[in-house]
This record gives sequence, structure tokens and C-alpha cells, in this order.
Amino acid sequence: MDYKNITIAGSGVLGYQIAFQTAFHGFHVTVYDINDEALEKAKAKFSDLGEAYKKDLNATQQQIDRTSQNLSYTTDLAEAVKDADLLIEAVPENPAIKTDFYKKLAKVAPEKTVFATNSSTLLPSQFAEATGRPSKFLALHFANTIWIHNTAEIMGHAQTDPKVFDDVLAFAKAIGMLALPLHKEQPGYILNSLLVPLLSAATRLLVTEVADPQTIDKTWMKATGAPTGPFGILDIVGIMTAYNIDKIAAEKTQDELKIKTVNYLKENYIDKNKLGVSTGEGFYKYPNPAYKDPDFLK
Ligand code: NAD
Repeated sequence: MDYKNITIAGSGVLGYQIAFQTAFHGFHVTVYDINDEALEKAKAKFSDLGEAYKKDLNATQQQIDRTSQNLSYTTDLAEAVKDADLLIEAVPENPAIKTDFYKKLAKVAPEKTVFATNSSTLLPSQFAEATGRPSKFLALHFANTIWIHNTAEIMGHAQTDPKVFDDVLAFAKAIGMLALPLHKEQPGYILNSLLVPLLSAATRLLVTEVADPQTIDKTWMKATGAPTGPFGILDIVGIMTAYNIDKIAAEKTQDELKIKTVNYLKENYIDKNKLGVSTGEGFYKYPNPAYKDPDFLK
């Protein structure tokens, strides 16, 4: 693996974390997003992440300064990838947006660039053709708060070149990840094969009025010893991502309960800008969510 220049497309919740983590580990990182407003939002997260790395990883100010020097920003896609060894795509979890993105990218990226999708629920084979380079395309999936929950699931599709797979595995290790290879395509990888059913079971209990979010979280936390319940996790993941996942499922299955869940999330959370930790409120209020209160489980 001789990657040096890495481009991150999409600088939202996950994209910017990937950019920061990669720059922190010495790679040259270009952050691409669709407009200046999105990039300004990303830049504003820099100092918060720097503080988090100092607190959680004992990072020095010198390391944070170097991270800053390794990061550049652009809204011009051709400029963003002109020298990229690897592009990691973290644009919204929407098949139409991703397909459109890959088609545009295929036109401007140099031949050497490997493309990796960070999609949580969509399979790389779905976009392989749009990339124009199926053998140099695979999934590299991170978890939220990647400097602490540093898992990287690496998953090819049938046409991914094994050398590309091994290079991306080595890259993941080089940026401090626990690299987790999957032997075949699996919707939701390992993590979300476990997590998504848990989160949808929790929202089902809420939408069918069986119990409120705090009671559901308390049950899960006390009974399993987990530090966070499903609604706490939903706030971290971002309710918009959960909403998008449910929306795709509802459109596909026309399942009544799924449709009800989508409407419920829209009315009570999305429309009120209660998107989770990122907007200061979701199922809990931040920065001090009730579930972190020592008395929460009493
Ligand atoms: P987000 O909505 O926070 O960020 C998406 C970003 O993409 C925004 O900055 C937006 O401006 C930008 N964008 C929109 N259209 C674009 C385009 N055409 N080209 C480039 N950028 C564009 O989303 P997110 O939560 O960071 O999720 C991004 C991807 O990462 C999704 O595929 C999601 O499944 C995956 N992911 C998310 C999480 C999570 O916990 N949020 C975890 C793992 C993986």
C-alpha cells in the first residue's frame, strides 16, 4: 500500500471524522463537499475534534497542528481527486445521490484512484457499474466517533481486485483502525447486521406505544450492561440516517408499521430539527443526556 493522498467526499457526520482521523495519521487529505456552506460547517468541527483527540487519545497540540496542515478543502470535484490514491465516499445514504456522485466522479478521477464507499446499508455491487472501475471499488465502513470506536469493515463485491482489497485493509490499519475483513457482500456488514434490527425494534416499541425511549434504553442498559441504549445510539448515529434507512424500507415494502415509523420520526424529530447529538437534541438533550446521569438506572 503506497497511498499518500486521500480524498473524502461528503464532510457530514462521518465524512469529517474520517478526514480528521486520516490527516491525524499523516496522510494528505482533501475534503470535498457540494458547497462552501457544508465545508464551513466541517471546518467548524475541527477544534472540537482536536479537543476530543487530546482528551481521549492524549494527542499533543503539535499533532493537532499537523493534522490541520494535512487537511485541505474544495467544492471542485476534479480538483479534489486530481492526485488521489484513494477516495472515500461519505455522501448521504441515498442511492440516487450516490449513483449520481459516482458517475460524475468517474469522469474526473485519474485511473489510479481507488474508490471506497462508507455506506452503512447499501452494497458496493449496487454502484460498481456507475464507478466505471468495478475492480478498484469496495466498501470501507467506519463507525461513528471513529477515533474511539475504531472499527473499519472492509467488504469487496464480486469484481473487487484482491490487491485493492489488501491495500485498503493496510490503509485502514495505517490510520489506526481495527481492520475487519468480510469474506463476502453482506447488507449492513457485521456491525449493522446486529445494530439495525436492534434500533428498529426499539423504534417499533416506541411507535406502537409499548414504552417510552428512556424506559426502553434503561431495560437494554441494565439487562446487558451496555453503556448506551438504542435511543442514545440513535442520537449518536443521527436520526436523519435512521429516518433515511426506514424510508427506503417503507417505500420498498409498503409495510404499514414502517410507514408509521417514518411519519413519526418526521413529525416529531426531523421537522423539529431534533436530529440527535449534532443539533443538541434528539431523544435526549445534549451535552448532558439523561442516560449518562448516575441515577438513570436507579
Ligand atoms: P451527513 O448527512 O451527515 O453528511 C453527508 C454530507 O454529504 C453532507 O455534508 C452533504 O453536504 C454532503 N453531500 C450531499 N450531496 C453530496 C454530493 N453529491 N457530493 C458530495 N457531498 C454531498 O451523512 P453521514 O451520517 O455522514 O453519512 C454519510 C455516509 O456515511 C452514509 O452513506 C452513511 O450510511 C455512512 N455512515 C454513517 C454513519 C453515521 O453514524 N452517521 C456511520 C457509518 C457510515
